[in-house]
Amino acid sequence: MKIEFDYLVIGSGIAGLFYAIQVSKFGKVAIVSKSSLDQTTTSKAQGGVASVLYNPDSYEKHINDTVIAGCGINDEKIVEIVVTEGPDRVLDLINIGTKFDKDQFGQYDLNKEGGHSEKRVLHYKDKTGEEIQRALIDEVKSNPNISIFENHFAIELITQHHLNEKVTRSRKDIECYGAYIFDIEKEKIFTVLSSKIMIATGGCGNVYLHTTNPPNITGDGIAMVYRAKGVVENMEFVQFHPTSLYNPEVKPSFLITEALRGAGAILKNQKNEDFCLKHHKQGSLAPRDIVARAIDSEMKLSGENYVFLDARNIEKDILMEHFPTIYAKCLEIGYDLKKDLIPVTPAAHYLCGGIKTNENGETSIKNLYAAGESASTGLHGANRLASNSLLEALVFAHRAAKVSSTISSIDSQIKANIPNWNDEGTIKNEELVLISHSLREVQQIMSNYVGIVRSDLRLQRALDRLHIIYKETEELFKVSNVTVSICELRNIINVGYLIIRMAMERRQSVGLHYNTDLLETMQP
Ligand SMILES: Cc1cc2nc3c(=O)[nH]c(=O)nc-3n(C[C@H](O)[C@H](O)[C@H](O)COP(=O)(O)OP(=O)(O)OC[C@H]3O[C@@H](n4cnc5c(N)ncnc54)[C@H](O)[C@@H]3O)c2cc1C
Repeated sequence: MKIEFDYLVIGSGIAGLFYAIQVSKFGKVAIVSKSSLDQTTTSKAQGGVASVLYNPDSYEKHINDTVIAGCGINDEKIVEIVVTEGPDRVLDLINIGTKFDKDQFGQYDLNKEGGHSEKRVLHYKDKTGEEIQRALIDEVKSNPNISIFENHFAIELITQHHLNEKVTRSRKDIECYGAYIFDIEKEKIFTVLSSKIMIATGGCGNVYLHTTNPPNITGDGIAMVYRAKGVVENMEFVQFHPTSLYNPEVKPSFLITEALRGAGAILKNQKNEDFCLKHHKQGSLAPRDIVARAIDSEMKLSGENYVFLDARNIEKDILMEHFPTIYAKCLEIGYDLKKDLIPVTPAAHYLCGGIKTNENGETSIKNLYAAGESASTGLHGANRLASNSLLEALVFAHRAAKVSSTISSIDSQIKANIPNWNDEGTIKNEELVLISHSLREVQQIMSNYVGIVRSDLRLQRALDRLHIIYKETEELFKVSNVTVSICELRNIINVGYLIIRMAMERRQSVGLHYNTDLLETMQP
């Protein structure tokens, strides 16, 4: 079956929904989401959206903080675009119906987070992402130009390759015509044709064993673009959030927002020492990569799998008012923030790299756009400043919508020649356990050898081991009926490979990429 829309949006987080709302003014939109609309990383965001609103904050200060966190390898033009256009996009969100907390004078109550020189993070209690997601979902559900396909999985992008042309990475004229979509409930694959396709599939936290990302965030969009021979960059810059609640039985790892440290909580080791001060003058509020490495080093010294967060000095009213979710979650597993030290450990959290885009969210493939965590705009450089990612998603979803406002139908000859998905010769795979074993193996390899601290030897080991699983999985994929688990495994392997290869190619330790064999440069 083939269906056609003016716009195909893959992903229902902040980037996908914000783009869909903008382009629905110009044509018919399909939003495809592999789970329910709200199963996104966006829903999990706690801290908020960074945006310059009031004195004494300024664009210059926000730009400067972003570049310092990114170790100077940010694209400065992109940083300026995001910081200066950000406040208008936040206003758009508010106009859509998103609520942010205000203070007693009616001004937005701004938080200060790690690496920020001013208070500039808009928030809604400690569940900002949930509130943004709610408002966006309400808006798309009431929009007659938007069709929603929940529990539909994008498998592959359609390009000239599907017209039997040779598509190589050096080709500059690759075009995208849509995607093959798997209806998970009906177990059917259909073809969605579209003249504009937005990839908004989020990051790839589940490449690692411990992650704060929901389980459905497996780097699918990045892997699809890479397989379609598009350009992907900066994959070595994976941010590990320093403070996820240590509770190894539960996935995803529960994040303890930096805002708690902003409010006064301090990281302590087993000897009750404020150890972060040994690593950076900002102590527990140093940039995330430094705090994560400090924790990694303390854990290696103590042999424990966690350090502690001490929030006992924060007033109970403040804890209850600003951090109700965290307070309740800790209490649920037996820790009272006001009385107990909370065990925390780093977890894969955010991908700075991804599908390379220009200042309008355009990828190297014609008619294909990317925004949000799947995209690499150049904003973050070697490390992301906290709460800059929701802002980045808004700014580039908006810019991409602007440049994709003119819709042109796909050539009728091309349309006719695009084949439907070919699953001839495939059978139902009875050995699902092989897939879950391989997944676990890949996550273990990535966590052991390509985590916070890397070395040339570890990276080579990871590559050699991954290669074996890659070959096995591709063979299995060719003969198996499509399932979400085998598609996700393929994508995780592709993305893992990109992280390793780009980590090997980066011959300096910088920001989130720390290799013990290389000199460290450009630290903030
Ligand atoms: C715990 C946590 C807290 C955070 N807090 C903050 C914060 O305070 N401030 C901030 O700026 N950032 C924060 N971040 C980061 C931020 O939330 C994310 O970068 C951002 O929400 C990503 O949005 P997105 O639209 O790109 O992707 P997501 O919100 O992850 O959405 C991805 C969508 O793509 C869909 N999808 C994926 N693959 C497929 C496929 N193959 N087919 C169909 N659909 C697919 C998913 O189902 C989902 O709908 C946080 C992240 C985490 C994990």
